[in-house]
Amino acid sequence: MTNANNYDLVLTGGRVFDPGRGVDSVSDIAISGGRIARVAAAVDTSNATRTVDVSGKLVTPGLIDLHTHVAGGLGKVADEGSFLAADLAGVNSGVTTVVDAGSTGSYNVGGMINHVVPESKTRVIVFINTGVLGIHKNPEIRDESDIDVEHSIATVQASEHIRGVKVRMVSPSVQSMGIELARKAKAISSGAGVPLMVHIGDIPEDHPKAAAAAPALLTDVLTAGDIVTHTCSHHVGALLDNGKLRPEAQTARDNGVRFDVGVGRANFSFDSARAVMDQGLIPDTISSDVTVGGRLELVHGQIESMNKFLALGLSLEDVVKMSTANSAESLGLSDSLGAIEEGREADLSVLEIVTGNWIYRDPTGGTGTGEKALVPVFAVRAGEIQPLDYGPRPWGWLPESAD
Ligand SMILES: [Zn+2]
Repeated sequence: MTNANNYDLVLTGGRVFDPGRGVDSVSDIAISGGRIARVAAAVDTSNATRTVDVSGKLVTPGLIDLHTHVAGGLGKVADEGSFLAADLAGVNSGVTTVVDAGSTGSYNVGGMINHVVPESKTRVIVFINTGVLGIHKNPEIRDESDIDVEHSIATVQASEHIRGVKVRMVSPSVQSMGIELARKAKAISSGAGVPLMVHIGDIPEDHPKAAAAAPALLTDVLTAGDIVTHTCSHHVGALLDNGKLRPEAQTARDNGVRFDVGVGRANFSFDSARAVMDQGLIPDTISSDVTVGGRLELVHGQIESMNKFLALGLSLEDVVKMSTANSAESLGLSDSLGAIEEGREADLSVLEIVTGNWIYRDPTGGTGTGEKALVPVFAVRAGEIQPLDYGPRPWGWLPESAD
């Protein structure tokens, strides 16, 4: 008989907040062998190895950032480009799972699988790029010669860590290939049996083909479980057509297509977010699209991205669900991620709600303001408390104050 009180770690007195399951109550969480052993109003801590008082803090399922670039260390010597160390986007920022969205492709994803995934404390899930070298080669696709459908299918099938395919509907590939670019990407994802994540919105505003491809992309190419990222983009070929939500976006949603945010340094504006949401499309998931540069300006990470949606008027329940249960659903991992439940691996995020006069900025000069901001306290990954980074701003984790 095991002694049920021999817990490795007990978090006591936190506000356990799991909106995916309708849970919001002050409870203790006991962890044993990396798993959640017990969630109860009062857990017996007399034999616990470690007890941490988290009274006044929010304890959520481990946050999931569905769109990051964490191929740090795999690029050129002395030039990491955009790629961040996974733990900086992940556990050191209070986030337990990150998805690398196409930093590598089928020819170089081995670096992710053999190094980044096993050497990171953060759970790293990989979506391979449709371009064989990913965005280590930028632009990753100029024409069809940068795509290898058969090799990419075999690569996805060779690793349990690869759970999706990414394509960016941007120039120059969208100019040379048009909708065929999306069809090639879909051939890989459907051949491998994983979702396709599509970056919508092309930055050069004088390039018409991204816009021309958007309706067919949404209604003819994407199917249930596929993911549109940059839902709140102000660029051409995204969901807004002269300020109006493309009707095909609702058709796609009716077909089971998922909508992700992917803030990024260039693919989110407050005006576009308001327009998209006012016309009835609330994204399914919040993600950051964090990179080395983005971490220090505008993006800052998953929790800052959640704060932007609090500023847009969504509730705390909404933004946590859009970063936990909904994200797990987009990954097809609802059975293991995105919920607090006895028996599951203990991935948790401990957060604090800080009141202030917070202001958030976008690349168009637009702003959003809010009174409540989330900041990370620490993450628990597979039962272990992880250290928190100093934070992306000179003063740490708090957003910018408008005062
Ligand atoms: Zn990205």
